[in-house]
Formats: sequence, structure tokens, C-alpha cells
Amino acid sequence: MVFLRLGKIPGNKQSTNFFTNEKEIGVSVFEFKNNLPILSNLNQLNSFALRREEPAFICSGDVIGIGNDEEPLIKNIKIIKSINYSKEDFLKIILDKLNQAFLSKSGDLDLIDRDLSRVFHSVKRTKTCTICKIEIDEFDNCDCKSKKNTYKYTKGKEIHEYIYAGIKFTNPVNGFDTLMGWKNKVAKI
Ligand SMILES: [Zn+2]
Repeated sequence: MVFLRLGKIPGNKQSTNFFTNEKEIGVSVFEFKNNLPILSNLNQLNSFALRREEPAFICSGDVIGIGNDEEPLIKNIKIIKSINYSKEDFLKIILDKLNQAFLSKSGDLDLIDRDLSRVFHSVKRTKTCTICKIEIDEFDNCDCKSKKNTYKYTKGKEIHEYIYAGIKFTNPVNGFDTLMGWKNKVAKI
């Protein structure tokens, strides 16, 4: 089994958890298959995006636990080779994964002044007018507002949007975990 490590191999063979600063029990890596890293949730995808400038190594090792992002933690790490990802390689891997992981997208690729080190999450809410029954963005007003003073809205739904390089992704496929951040389940063995 081979893995992708982004970043120098820590001297004490342990990775530091980004959220707690605590040492994890092994070196944090990505699974690597068919010449591609496996990015199986949004935390892993963000972790990959964040490390674009880091040295990259294909390595082997023994899995001894699971890190905060559900990524493998390995010991007895051996570097097989170092690899060079270009910015384009990184973008392609991330965008291909986002395209697989979400059912809907809108917007065009726009790299100007974009922070490409993570996917940005925003929550939009909707509301529905009780008179014309039209569902609109929570900060908008429907057209019947101008005609009646008694309009009312009922609470709509939350729409989670995940934005990367100008493209807005919505509707994650079943099984793709979009919860970001610290999950308090480091070093599951
Ligand atoms: Zn209305």
C-alpha cells in the first residue's frame, strides 16, 4: 500500500494535529491509488489544498491509526520517491474531486484573487411567501410585496454552498462528509 505525504516527514515521526496542536500517533498521509490521492471527505480535500506548496512524497508505511480528517496515520514510513505537483495538477485533482462529490454546480472557473488553499462554505437560507408561494433568498422580497402590506414569509430551507475557484458546489453525494473542522476523533486505532 502506498501513500502520499505532503510536507516534510516530521523528525519524531508524528504529525501535529492542526486543531489541537497535539501530536498524533503517526505520520499523517493520504491514501494513494491509480496515481491519485484519495480525498474522501471535505476535510481531506482542504488538507490537500492547504499543502500545495509543501514537498510531496510517495511513501510506504504501516497504518497505526486514523487522524482527524479520517486520514491514515502511518509508522515505519519509507519514502519511495518525491513528486512534483504543479499548481495545475493540484487544481485538477481538487476540481475533479469536487465534481464527483457534488451533484450540482454553478459559476465559471475564476482564479483571479482566489484563495485556493481551501473550499469556502456558506449557508444560504430561503423563505417562501405565504401569498404568492414563491421561494426566494432570505434577504430578497417577492414581487407581491409592492402590492400588499400584509405579506408574510414562512421559513424555507438551508442551502449549503461550497465555493472553490469561483465555482459554487451544492448537493453533496451520499457518503461525502462535508463537515469541516475539528472532530475530536484523533488516533482511532
Ligand atoms: Zn409574494
